[in-house]
Amino acid sequence: MADYEVDYSEVAGKKAECIDGCGMCCLCQPEVLPQERQFFRKNHPECLVRSRGPDQYFALALKKGRGSCVFLNECRRCQIYDHRTTYCKQFPYHLYVSDHVKVELDMSCRGLWTGKGVDALSEAKQMVAAADDRLKQAVKEASAVYREFYENARAAGVMADSSMLRMTVSEHLSDFTDLGFISKILSMAEVEAQVSISGAKRGEKYDLKDLNDAARETALESLSTDDPLSMPVYSAEDLSWNVFTVDKNKVEWMTVGDDGEFHHKGFADADEIEIKPLNDEGSKVLAEYLGILNGRDSFLGSVYYLIDANGYEDDLSNAYYGSLATAVLDIMWRAALLDRFFGTGFGARGIKEAIIFYDMDRLDAPAIGAFV
Ligand code: SF4
Ligand code: SF4
Repeated sequence: MADYEVDYSEVAGKKAECIDGCGMCCLCQPEVLPQERQFFRKNHPECLVRSRGPDQYFALALKKGRGSCVFLNECRRCQIYDHRTTYCKQFPYHLYVSDHVKVELDMSCRGLWTGKGVDALSEAKQMVAAADDRLKQAVKEASAVYREFYENARAAGVMADSSMLRMTVSEHLSDFTDLGFISKILSMAEVEAQVSISGAKRGEKYDLKDLNDAARETALESLSTDDPLSMPVYSAEDLSWNVFTVDKNKVEWMTVGDDGEFHHKGFADADEIEIKPLNDEGSKVLAEYLGILNGRDSFLGSVYYLIDANGYEDDLSNAYYGSLATAVLDIMWRAALLDRFFGTGFGARGIKEAIIFYDMDRLDAPAIGAFV
């Protein structure tokens, strides 16, 4: 019997299917849990490897050490489907743990955008039941981290009511898709002790060059890596896997082949990739996504992480609104990047594609809780 609360609001009413020939999630090297190692040690010892980075764990090997999982065949089907790891089975669901559990969805998965498939709520409940032991332990650990954060934030006088912040944002979702509004929020978050959303309005004057500089800086920060394992992947409409690297302001577009090889596709000057105001359809798609982000505990956890990393100097309202505005700029710049290479535009299609490109990175942002 679970002794923690589970928030299913993000999955309620949604459907999820897996698209044949996609395989995008098989580019995310899955961890192999202790109870799963025996199968791989016995049957595929060469495919069990140590992950890189500070948090060492056992994972499945990737083709050429950087492509998809070695078990993904040329038709992009899993060759060990019945023995795939827990994390393979869970995708695109993520179980985020704070002092309770929140089930979140990875909107980079195209199978969540078709409106078809199984009932996501029932599937999520089964996953939570299967992960019960791990969740119990994780909730215990994360609760202690959250308690410490609240104590520190209150002592520093930077804590605010997160439910009120979320409620305020939910009343202004479409405003957050307006460049004038975003510009004002960002400048207030920088100079004012406490941001009040009523100080920003749609249609405020803004400097497009300044916003472009900020958007480029934010997006390039997440794209700039030489490590192929850390490169954000964009699974395009044709199901090709695409990565972008940045060198001296030059963006290179490459595809990742099914064999793990990278193939050059094109270059663009980062300065020439420019955000633009969204049309009504683009704004609607973005506002819906911001509603999801605003409800995510992992988003709030990432804002808490920032406050902690900055020494408890920023008020929660500044950090929260500022993070949301920065997320919008990142998405808009990615929309501009995809438009440059794929002609996806700034309407509903372009913003949907940018979210598909962005959401996996968003869920990877450091947070004070943990995904289980
Ligand atoms: S990303 Fe989604 S649609 Fe693609 S293979 Fe994974 S679960 Fe299936
Ligand atoms: S084990 Fe199968 S489902 Fe999991 S990453 Fe590898 S190919 Fe994909």
